[in-house]
Amino acid sequence: MGNSKKNKLVVYLAELSHDQFGLSLRTTPLGLGAVTSYALLKLGTEYEVKVFRTFQSLIEAIDTCTPDIIGFGYFAWNDYLTLVAVRAVREKCPEALIVFGGSNISPYGQQISGFPIDVPDNSLVQPSAIESTTFISDSFAWPVYGDYQLITSYPEIDVIIHGDAEIPLVGIMERFLETGDRSGVKAAAVQGCSALVDGTLVRGPKPEILMDLDQIPSPYITGVFSDLIEKYNLIPQIETMRGCPYKCTFCTIGSNESLVRKHSLDYSIEEILYLKDHVAHNTLRIADPNWGMLKKDIELAEFIESLNKEHNYPVSLRVYYSAGGPFSNIKKMALMMKNLLPLNMSFQSLNKGTLKHIKRGNMPLRKVEEMVSFAKDNQIATGTELISGLPLESFQSFKESFLKAVKLQIDSVFMGPL
Ligand code: SF4
Repeated sequence: MGNSKKNKLVVYLAELSHDQFGLSLRTTPLGLGAVTSYALLKLGTEYEVKVFRTFQSLIEAIDTCTPDIIGFGYFAWNDYLTLVAVRAVREKCPEALIVFGGSNISPYGQQISGFPIDVPDNSLVQPSAIESTTFISDSFAWPVYGDYQLITSYPEIDVIIHGDAEIPLVGIMERFLETGDRSGVKAAAVQGCSALVDGTLVRGPKPEILMDLDQIPSPYITGVFSDLIEKYNLIPQIETMRGCPYKCTFCTIGSNESLVRKHSLDYSIEEILYLKDHVAHNTLRIADPNWGMLKKDIELAEFIESLNKEHNYPVSLRVYYSAGGPFSNIKKMALMMKNLLPLNMSFQSLNKGTLKHIKRGNMPLRKVEEMVSFAKDNQIATGTELISGLPLESFQSFKESFLKAVKLQIDSVFMGPL
């Protein structure tokens, strides 16, 4: 089992960033950090876990010490890089268990994307369902449109995790301890995971959901990110909740994770105080998709306001206010945060057909006008976002959305491709 010279089994987890012209991702890989600190809490006496941001640093670590398990965070911002990396890593580590997780993989509870038949939850095998599987491992299939295409085109990948990875990854590590090899883990139908074994799909049962996010130790306070932050001067990002009750179809958060789960206010305050004292970068990013939706968001804003006044930390804040209100919360918070954060009201599109198609309900325009007027009266900067390339969006309709945003007198309009 693994390298006999090691005291513990070794897990390397990587959410890769392009780095040819400096790092393309300047923030900490938050999801990977949470997964790591949870795994160390549960299995820290058996395993050593390290996180990586670049391919080069991952390969250097592999050359020094061959890991038993390698996990990749697979997202829209690093998909091709990760697919190329997994081939190189497999060549160096023929016996390691390779795991993929991240928002490019369908969440548990949906039909495994791209699979030719509907796969029921907790199905151990689907014989003959994938008879026509064609492995094309000699070429880099890209783009990859679904789980099925991923695991057939990239047989280097042993197991994929659907949705939140904390509990499934611990399950994988426990199975590895028991079975001692990757084929044993692949066949074990670990909760929240799927694997392809001799041409049949093995799918584990529905994973338990961590409703109380405080069960995940802070990756900052536990030191998981210390090396990465020091090496790359990363902007720390935290989350105070997960999930979104809305269902915009272009977004993996709402369409996949409607269940809202939270950290306590005390947890977030302790984490921010740690960052103030231990991290050089004085910008803070909160990765919540709808800040202001919860009552505790106002209390956190009050805390951040007083911290900024007394300790000049953070000097800048990045977070998205909830586009759906409650607007009284958002007005209160925007007043408190006026020196740290613009009042952003994300539109994504203002084309009615597009909004209907992507199931997005924007803030009503008269409410936008009221919020802009409130912001101007209180010297608060305003901002919005538009996404190009959404369904039913033409160049003409996108241009009209932009002109409407300008007419609404919003100070900055950020435009990004889908
Ligand atoms: S409101 Fe935001 S987080 Fe929620 S589904 Fe829509 S885009 Fe995603």
